[in-house]
Amino acid sequence: MAAHLVRSLSRSCRQLSSPFRAVQCGGWRFRSTALDLDSDQTSAVSFPPLQTFSEEETMMRDAVKKYAQERIAPFVSKMDESSHMDDEVIQSLFEQGLMGIEIDPEYGGTGSSFFSSILVIEELAKVDPSVAVLCDIQNTLINTLMSKLGTPEQKDKYLSRLATDMVGSFCLSEAESGSDAFALKTRAEKHGDYFIINGSKMWISNAEHAGVFLVMANVDPSAGYRGITCFLVDRDTEGLEICKKENKLGLRASSTCPLNFDNVKVPERIFWVSTDAGFGSGLLRSHSPYTRQRVQFGKRIFDFQGMQHQIAHVATQIEAARLLTYNAARLKEAGRPFIKEACMAKYFAAEVATLTTSKCIEWMGGVGFTKDYPIEKYYRDCKIGTIYEGPQTSSSRPWPSS
Ligand SMILES: Cc1cc2nc3c(=O)[nH]c(=O)nc-3n(C[C@H](O)[C@H](O)[C@H](O)COP(=O)(O)OP(=O)(O)OC[C@H]3O[C@@H](n4cnc5c(N)ncnc54)[C@H](O)[C@@H]3O)c2cc1C
Repeated sequence: MAAHLVRSLSRSCRQLSSPFRAVQCGGWRFRSTALDLDSDQTSAVSFPPLQTFSEEETMMRDAVKKYAQERIAPFVSKMDESSHMDDEVIQSLFEQGLMGIEIDPEYGGTGSSFFSSILVIEELAKVDPSVAVLCDIQNTLINTLMSKLGTPEQKDKYLSRLATDMVGSFCLSEAESGSDAFALKTRAEKHGDYFIINGSKMWISNAEHAGVFLVMANVDPSAGYRGITCFLVDRDTEGLEICKKENKLGLRASSTCPLNFDNVKVPERIFWVSTDAGFGSGLLRSHSPYTRQRVQFGKRIFDFQGMQHQIAHVATQIEAARLLTYNAARLKEAGRPFIKEACMAKYFAAEVATLTTSKCIEWMGGVGFTKDYPIEKYYRDCKIGTIYEGPQTSSSRPWPSS
């Protein structure tokens, strides 16, 4: 696949007269059909199903599927074993324009939509959830915060790098502040026109490769969470220590490191934090070809009705999780409230991924428990979905009241 294919696909699509671009409201065309019911002139509106994709989205999804098979799949097993993301994989993500999906082409980004990011992350997660996490954090957290809240100078300095060669990390969690994120202890004290940061962070994804860290620190503890502010800290800043990465159950190729800040001097803050709500995406494939090959009692195990009931149940759960995710993404793109729906999608998708991978192992019997098949890795990788970005059981933070 030629370099920049995804990026150029996205650009050329914008030149096409796509039916989905004709009308505003998330880019969807609403077909209005007049119905003549007795004397009543009632008009019905037909809406496209949630699984309807624009031309650009379809091309993007297909291109990423092909790219992931060709350029990522060959590295997956080795990266899991060595707990290290191969530089070639990271470089190819940048080359394909997948690290700056929504970033304006003015800054070297792909200039595509939020929904396209969701499709991209889903396709990457099918091949390697560690790579999907890298891409997810970069696009939906780092780039979004920088694009929406960065000053013009910060955008000039960072957006073009984030789109082309710089990984970013999001630093919120601390040893004593996980689900209770507002309880963070890292302090930033103002001295003239700069700030001094002291404290430490834990569980910071992609820290091994990050060139910039978005660090949450409190500038005024007396104001409680209102004092929490985001700072941009470059990797080579004096006083920043990136500590030894965690040895994890899953997502092993994705680095997760503690950070220490010892009198780290930063010129200014970037923005005040309002709220964070990420949502899970990238569901795992449930279909296991093994069930169609394995023969017991003279039949393929897939042909037993008891097995089919289980597979149908899991397939239905996956579809429901995907539709919740797509719906939340479409709501966001349409500029409508979406936090509650995003939380529901994150909660449900994480549960479904855990169920799916667990069932897939059972369906494969003993070999599912070995490293001869990739399913055990999916099982390990997906468990984190019920923990990070707000664990399933700590409903106080992720669920908004309305
Ligand atoms: C692989 C990995 C990557 C990560 N990446 C990042 C990252 O890039 N940036 C970042 O900032 N953080 C990151 N994290 C941190 C992650 O967001 C936290 O681990 C998560 O928020 C949970 O916090 P905790 O581990 O302190 O668990 P705790 O908050 O201590 O929770 C422990 C248990 O108590 C439960 N609990 C807590 N509060 C309540 C409550 N009110 N009611 C009921 N039950 C409750 C929880 O549900 C959980 O079961 C990552 C973590 C991991 C493991």
